[in-house]
Amino acid sequence: MAWNFDNSYARELEGLYAPWQIDPPEDAQLTLFNGALAERLGLDFEDIGDSARAGLLGGAQLPEGAEPIAMAYSGHQFGHFSHQLGDGRALLLGEVIAPDGKRFDLQLKGSGRTPFSRGGDGKLVLGPALREYLVSEAMAALGIATTRSLSVVTTGEKVRRNGLEQGAVLMRVAASHLRVGSFEYAAAHHGKEQVRKLADYAIARHYPEAAEADNPYLALLEAVMDAQIRLVASWMHVGFIHGVMNTDNVTISGETIDYGPCAFMDRYSGGTVFSSIDHGGRYAFANQPNICRWNMAKLGSALAEVIVEEDEDGIAKANQLLEDFPDRYHARWLEGMRAKLGLAENDERDLGLVASLFNAMEGQGADYTQFFRLLARVPEDGREALNALFDEPDAIAGWLDTWEARIAHEERPHDKRVAAMNTVNPLYIPRNHKVEEALQAAANGDMDPFNTMLDVLARPYEEREGLEEYARPAPADAPAYVTYCGT
Ligand code: AMP
Ligand code: MG
Repeated sequence: MAWNFDNSYARELEGLYAPWQIDPPEDAQLTLFNGALAERLGLDFEDIGDSARAGLLGGAQLPEGAEPIAMAYSGHQFGHFSHQLGDGRALLLGEVIAPDGKRFDLQLKGSGRTPFSRGGDGKLVLGPALREYLVSEAMAALGIATTRSLSVVTTGEKVRRNGLEQGAVLMRVAASHLRVGSFEYAAAHHGKEQVRKLADYAIARHYPEAAEADNPYLALLEAVMDAQIRLVASWMHVGFIHGVMNTDNVTISGETIDYGPCAFMDRYSGGTVFSSIDHGGRYAFANQPNICRWNMAKLGSALAEVIVEEDEDGIAKANQLLEDFPDRYHARWLEGMRAKLGLAENDERDLGLVASLFNAMEGQGADYTQFFRLLARVPEDGREALNALFDEPDAIAGWLDTWEARIAHEERPHDKRVAAMNTVNPLYIPRNHKVEEALQAAANGDMDPFNTMLDVLARPYEEREGLEEYARPAPADAPAYVTYCGT
């Protein structure tokens, strides 16, 4: 049993973390284990029994080669700078090199207090651990860049949240845990040389081609911006609302991270917010691209000193990149929207077509996910099913006329178009009411609904018999859905 650790962050970036030890769990019991992911990482669990496996994944026993550290970072939270954040309830165990040579962070979330815990208890409870596991694995199956979940282990401890709840730890796997907030920390606490070291590290780890650029740090900013554009566009395509896009929750790799208050939108509205603390709608569905740009400006600020040292026009060039953000974002987003709408050919009016779709849908109560699946069938089956999603079908009639006229001009046959649309428009997403049902059952000791749901979400695009309830929105009289941070 050997895991192939190589802990480059701890080795190279002193000053950006604190070495620390895990609070060992009282009684580690394995709740979930992602065997396929373990295999992909080359983590060998062959010769050990269940309790040793739970011990390893729960933090009772440190795998050989691990060097637990709490990473330091800062962050803009709801627009305000907090200079001292960091892993307050997680530890980076180290980096494993997978059989294909790729490097992954292994992070244990919920493993107790650290020097960065501030007032928190450093713990995690079972519901949020399972929620992160389910939603992150669903995102991966949707083809969206994301951190992954290797396991959930209950700790045998009671943790105070809504009353006393079961303590749990989640093993999170990421391309890395570098964040925009990591750069903000290096700039705020150490200055230029540490920023350069961190930037060189990030380039080597994620964007090695940037090292060859005239100005590697500007190239890093551009690469991160493009990765974040791809990411946020992919969220917009499936109706994912992250909920807390603070700069400490924005990765340099371009993976989705931090599944706290996130949720999928059901009825379309650009202003949709689920998070209990997002009163101003800063992280509302339609605002996510703007916030992404704002976050990239913060990365630009943190990198400014090293960018300008390479090139005195560097700041002007960085500003130009940020100016170009809307065009780059729209190009990426439109490419995905064309696929969702079944348009095989480009037309200069496409952006207008898509914009008018969202205008027509606003406030009509139409389920975002169902809309695209039903749209695919309109040319053959007619509009009835699609119209039924709308409070006032007239609202979408004009748009449908334009869309039908448009696809009538395309050469691709109907069945090919439907098949193509169904590979990008999911049928099964983590429906909020189904997630809650599964978590409720799990809290009462019944993991069956949760495991069924994991299985449903593993193949989100492929219609399967008997799964109709997973494709339906919540009943109309369901209470408004609310999510919480830091649970
Ligand atoms: P999050 O909202 O999960 O992104 O967390 C924001 C900050 O609060 C990070 O620095 C976390 O490490 C910290 N934090 C969140 N929950 C806890 C907790 N239960 N104990 C200690 N620190 C926490
Ligand atoms: Mg966070």
